[in-house]
Amino acid sequence: MSDDTNPFESLQEQVDDAAAYLDVDDGVLERLKVPERVLETNLTFERDDGSLETVRAYRSQFNGDRGPYKGGIRYHPGVTRDEVKALSGWMVYKCAVVDIPYGGGKGGIEVEPAEYSTAELERLTRSFATELRPMIGEDRDIPAPDVNTGQREMNWIKDTYETLENTTAPGVITGKAIDSGGSAGRVEATGRSTALAARETFDWLGRTLADATVAVQGYGNAGSVAAALLHDLGATVVAVSDSGGGIYDPEGFDPRAVKSHKAETGAVAGYEGTEAITNDELLTMDVDLLVPAALENAIDADLAGDVSADVVVEAANGPLTPGADDVLTERGVWVVPDVFANAGGVTVSYFEWVQNRQRFHWTEARVNEELERVITDAFDGLIEAYETRDLPNLRTAAYVVALQRVVNAYEQGGNWP
Ligand code: GLU
Repeated sequence: MSDDTNPFESLQEQVDDAAAYLDVDDGVLERLKVPERVLETNLTFERDDGSLETVRAYRSQFNGDRGPYKGGIRYHPGVTRDEVKALSGWMVYKCAVVDIPYGGGKGGIEVEPAEYSTAELERLTRSFATELRPMIGEDRDIPAPDVNTGQREMNWIKDTYETLENTTAPGVITGKAIDSGGSAGRVEATGRSTALAARETFDWLGRTLADATVAVQGYGNAGSVAAALLHDLGATVVAVSDSGGGIYDPEGFDPRAVKSHKAETGAVAGYEGTEAITNDELLTMDVDLLVPAALENAIDADLAGDVSADVVVEAANGPLTPGADDVLTERGVWVVPDVFANAGGVTVSYFEWVQNRQRFHWTEARVNEELERVITDAFDGLIEAYETRDLPNLRTAAYVVALQRVVNAYEQGGNWP
């Protein structure tokens, strides 16, 4: 993180910013700014040399008024209780803005997975799954992948849960491999919605991606897929980066070839014909579209003063601090918020869960078509709120739409017991 902004405070500020434009009871608002419950646990697992190691892990269930808690599990040394709480709250508003019937949750283990063998990660993951078992379930709380987790971890969690429960319940977790009940299109879904969000925004602004240059910060599952799909939509991807630094070519390059290079060498750096750049150089580069696709707080208020892109589409969760948001709004830079732009991941997770519940498999074409409908409908709703309510920016518009839906569900249920 480039600064120490507390992401949980950022979330609360974003909700308050939207509430200022709605008629929300103060007591209800207070309830919707804090998690319902947070599990903090210490997981002990065996290393390959027979020694024991204990690491801290969390699961935050933020709000369940619109449906089961839903959200990923990340493995990262920077995981904290407040980060997980923030991420779980962002899931509530994300599911509400695209109007899928879920609440929000999130989990994390404070660990650097690159330091462990596959067998060690399996024991750690099964230990977490065992700890989570009483609080998750197909109708209760449905985890999914996030930073540094993927199909492999989801398959282990499903297997642990089903074994302990003596049942089959593939809908207890999403983001599984296809042969373990996963959905076509799930791996690409976050990057796909990011690219669709960019396309819709450029259309709305009367511009086209065919004339646009793009820089992408972060080359994991979200960033690398977004870059490839933006390239397919005619944009010129001129710069990308990962934790090992960035690469730049003013003529553009093929993002899929860069992905293969990263798969072989472990980093985007050194891709042929490109110049090495730093992450900050990438974030302030003079491009039409900037896609932060790494972690929270990538752009703070200071750096925001130097951002040269016209449009920022957030593929990561929380990449801008509230201070950065204010600076970019002031400077007339369009920010397309995370809770809308990266919602493709959880939307296809929802499709996976629906398929699991129906014991039926959709084609990839159907998944992508339904995803496009969800994203374009959500964009129309967000723009309608922005244009009719005189809101300062698209993030506030997304939160206005989402918060109203959550408030309605909360109030219709009533406060009981
Ligand atoms: N971790 C992803 C997110 O932040 C996906 C969550 C899910 O599929 O439940 O949206």
